[in-house]
Formats: sequence, structure tokens, C-alpha cells
Amino acid sequence: HNLFKENIHMKIIDLLHQRPTLSFEIFPPKKHDGDISSIYSTIDELSKLKPDFISVTYGAGGSTTENTVEIASKIKNEYGIEAVAHLSCIDATPEQLIRIIDSLKANNIENILALRGDYPKGYDPINAPHYYKYASELNEFISKNYPDTFCLSGACYPEVHQDAVSLEKDLQALKKKVDAGAKYLITQIFFDNNYYYRLVREARIRGINVPIIAGIMPATNSKSLLNIAKLSGCNIPYNLSASIERFKNNPQAMKEVGMNYATNQIIDLITNGVDGIHLYTMNKPEIVHEILKRTNNILAEFKND
Ligand code: FAD
Repeated sequence: HNLFKENIHMKIIDLLHQRPTLSFEIFPPKKHDGDISSIYSTIDELSKLKPDFISVTYGAGGSTTENTVEIASKIKNEYGIEAVAHLSCIDATPEQLIRIIDSLKANNIENILALRGDYPKGYDPINAPHYYKYASELNEFISKNYPDTFCLSGACYPEVHQDAVSLEKDLQALKKKVDAGAKYLITQIFFDNNYYYRLVREARIRGINVPIIAGIMPATNSKSLLNIAKLSGCNIPYNLSASIERFKNNPQAMKEVGMNYATNQIIDLITNGVDGIHLYTMNKPEIVHEILKRTNNILAEFKND
């Protein structure tokens, strides 16, 4: 596939200043899957949908860390699609960070989602030695060592991050992250749009004025959905959980449940002026295709907003 376009230079925030964005998230294949080439057929399919950017996770859910740069580089340099590389700092040393950020820079990648990261298995957050405790410190580290090089972004939590004692405290931390350099935010998954609207409202009141992109996950597999909801602490509204209960043993029916649910969330978010939609693709382009097919005209208007 030679989809190489001219090498675009684009910081995501410049795009967000022009119009809302549609983007996808993928993860590097897990270690035991060996070969990472399987991800390229996923990117082939996703690229046909012309997203504004594709983001690549970093060490999340047991996947490898070393492939993030390689995959993000392919997206940017071979497919001509803007890439956002996730990067986490919780168990990193400054030297490790420099090594990765240098290679992002060398590969022309201009956008980093700067995260604290999930705690590694068995990690003791109180006693384990660490250089960095919060994502805002990673933002500061990158801004200081690579001035004006990257467009940084951060994660935010419509239903409050699990370690935070209150919405208020979580928003204070979010303000620090934005002040430390995060130019836009992407939300954790949510299935009740009211949490997203609350986050935006409360953030704006506290002077957090950067774009807040909504992260949407099509809940097409009942087992992984329940697992992810548990891990991320997000609520499953009654109408969705009732459908899961009813159709959990019928994978095809569950796919329809998840796709239709995500489609309705997206329509409602666009109706209400969302800054961007970020689809957690779970590396399943066929589901993304279906959702976009159902929202073709809506998305065309959205992209012109
Ligand atoms: P932080 O912003 O540091 O917040 C963590 C907690 O600390 C919060 O409770 C916050 O309120 C509190 N806090 C922050 N700053 C302060 C402060 N200065 N003082 C006191 N309290 C503070 N994980 C991965 O490992 N790899 C990935 O690729 C990945 N991608 C993600 C993408 C998105 C869009 C999202 C929403 C999450 C992603 N995660 C990923 C998960 C993320 O790493 C976890 O949710 C992690 O627990 C928190 O990361 P954070 O960057 O939001 O942390």
C-alpha cells in the first residue's frame, strides 16, 4: 500500500481550532500475538474512513510499549494521517522518556497524549520508587526538554478518576495538567452523555477552556465491556445493561446493541456541540465502518461545524 501523501505537519490543536475532529484509537497487538503486522490491516481499513488523527496506546492493558513509536510512525509517514502517540510516566526514568521522545521526534510525530499510566501489575503506588507521580509532571518534562516541539494533550474523566476523592479535586488536578501544557483533552469512556456534559460545564466554570474530545467505545462484546467498565469505573445505564443481559449469549445481536448505542451517543453529542469524537476502536475497523455508515450525513455536517 502506497498511501503516502505529502508530509503534513499538523498539531492537533490547530485542527481543533478550525473544527471538531473525528479520531480513532488503536492499541499495539499484545506480546503473545508476536508479529505486529496484523495492526496494519486494521490501519488500512481505518485510513479509508479519513479520520483527523489516529492515536496509539502505550503499554495499556498489557500491550507492549516499544511498538507505539513504530506504529505511530507508519500512520504518520506512510498513511499521511496525523498520529498521536500515547506516553505514560508512572514507571519511567528520565532517560527512558528521553529515548522514546527523541525517537518520536525523529519520526516526525508531533502529538503526544501525556499520561500517568495505569499502575503496572503488583505496583505499590506509595512505596515504589518513582520519578513521576502525575501526568502534569510528564507535560512539564516534555515542555521543558522539547520546547515548542509537541502538541501535548491529556486524559480526563467524566465520572471522576478512581483515585480522586471528589469531582472538585479531580478538576483541580485537571486544571494543573492543562496549565502544565495539555492543549486539549480526551475523555475516558462513558455510556451516559450527561457525565460528559457535566464535565464540560464544571471544567469551563474553573477556567479549563481547552477542547474536550469525547471518547466513545462501541460496547459490542459483553464480557470485555463489563471488564472495561469495572476497570475504568464507568456506569452502565439501565437500558444498556438490560440489553447486555438479554443478548449476551448472542454475539451478533450484542454487536448490534453496541453499535446502535454508540451511534445514538454520537448523534446526541454532535447535536449538543461536542468538540470532537474519539472512537475506541478496539482494533475492530468493521464496527467503526458500520457506525460511520449510520452517521454519514450527521458527520458531514459535524466536520463543517
Ligand atoms: P493524572 O492526570 O496524573 O491523574 C491521576 C490521578 O491523580 C487522578 O485521580 C487525579 O485527580 C490525581 N492528580 C493528578 N495530578 C494531581 C496533583 N498535582 N495533585 C494531586 N492529585 C493529582 N494508560 C496507559 O497505560 N496507556 C495508555 O495508552 C492510556 N491511554 C489512555 C487514553 C485515554 C484517553 C484515557 C482517558 C486513559 C488512558 N490510559 C492509558 C489510562 C490512564 O493512564 C489511567 O486512567 C491513569 O490511572 C491516569 O492517568 P492520567 O494521565 O489521567 O493521570
